[in-house]
Amino acid sequence: MKFLLPLFLLFSLAQAQTSDLTSSLYETYDKYKEATLDKRRIKHSQLQPLIDAYRKHPDFRVNKVGESIEGRELSLVSIGKGDISVFLWSQMHGDEPTATQAIFDILNFLKSDDFKNEKRAILENCTLHFLPMLNPDGAEVFQRRNRLGIDVNRDALRLQSPEGQTLKRVRDSLEADFGFNLHDQSTYYNAERTEKPATISYLAPAYNYEKDINEVRANAMKVIVFMNNIIQKYAPGQVGRYNDDFEPRAFGDNIQKWGTSAILIESGGYPGDVEKQEIRKLNYVSILSALYTIAQGSYKDIPLERYNEIPENDRKLFDLKIVNATFPLLGKNYQIDLGINRLEVNKEGYNDFWYSSRVWDIGDLSTYYGYETLDATGYVIRPGKVYPTPVNNMAGLEGLDTFALLRAGYTYVRMQNIPKEKLSSPVALHIVGKNYKIPDLAMEVGVNPTFLLEKNGKVGYAVINGFLINLSEGKTGNFKNAMIYR
Ligand SMILES: [Zn+2]
Repeated sequence: MKFLLPLFLLFSLAQAQTSDLTSSLYETYDKYKEATLDKRRIKHSQLQPLIDAYRKHPDFRVNKVGESIEGRELSLVSIGKGDISVFLWSQMHGDEPTATQAIFDILNFLKSDDFKNEKRAILENCTLHFLPMLNPDGAEVFQRRNRLGIDVNRDALRLQSPEGQTLKRVRDSLEADFGFNLHDQSTYYNAERTEKPATISYLAPAYNYEKDINEVRANAMKVIVFMNNIIQKYAPGQVGRYNDDFEPRAFGDNIQKWGTSAILIESGGYPGDVEKQEIRKLNYVSILSALYTIAQGSYKDIPLERYNEIPENDRKLFDLKIVNATFPLLGKNYQIDLGINRLEVNKEGYNDFWYSSRVWDIGDLSTYYGYETLDATGYVIRPGKVYPTPVNNMAGLEGLDTFALLRAGYTYVRMQNIPKEKLSSPVALHIVGKNYKIPDLAMEVGVNPTFLLEKNGKVGYAVINGFLINLSEGKTGNFKNAMIYR
């Protein structure tokens, strides 16, 4: 009779084999981080010198595999000589760059002379193919859709976009065993019924409406369980699992159907990580570890049911949640919670951004969470006033004592000469033009969140453009900018 190890022991073994590697990858990451890509708004032109270097490197093969609508070259960077074909593509949505950065980190790692044994294991068993930034025209203007205005991820059947055609053609030519479909998701996703952001979310897409699980999909699920265990170590509780309803037009679902184990990875939010550099690192560590377990075949022993134990994705986070504030309206007081989000507005050239925030929801928000939460019990929401002495210019504004003004109830400063090129106010006071009339404070979905929180006649907090400022501590917290109303 053959002795069989219990499955959970085999499973631990698969994870244990790579856990040393995972820790070393995490600790040595900075050495491989591609330093030229440190902001989310990256462009195709920044990638080309990096890709060119791999053209000249003897271990790598670089092939032009297509062009975007505006003629930007799509390149496939390949390495390895193993039988297992692994295809990784990123940024089919132009404003989802985190994994593109991680791909160049992974390439730097593969190019280096370190981790020889692990790399040999990967490259002798696998051939890796990377297609970074599938939608460069979208990336150019930091938008999801391509130049035609369509979502490439709904074009897997009709194949009108050259980007989608390229993805399909490369997948078919490689007959890839594994496909990593790399995206970013909203930072407002959380792991269901927890305040933890879904820093990473996974999906092994269904290939039919019945959501059947064949070997192809099962393998994707197992690798996801493996990566989830890694992320749990560095971002405990911060993983979500996407709903697996079949979407017949999406690439992930079709790639699964076409016989490639499709793994969707979505990079979400991480507290304080606006440019998503920690999340990028988690991509690097978990994807490289996954390549190692794929090379070893050790993922095969992972029990499938673990996949469904990953909490589902939900979308219940706000940037700022204020609970139990008192709002006076037409002579009566009401208790309200506020959900506030800070929206990014691209600057010209799409290289940078500023914030224009919104009240996103009002009422009982007890089923929601905040990256930052304030219990405003006992605080009354008051409108801010315009400071009676106008300033002449930006220097005049910066000469003011912001905290003293906020404590005195002022949230707006009139400016005689607002510089044309200025998009936002650098201090926690809105700039208003000579003739601008401040609207009455209305607490409505969609308004800019600007008000004071007063207790016993004293202003304790100011909310300026959705940023919470603690006036008793004199702290501006994570404040970035206020607005200009000309
Ligand atoms: Zn996406």
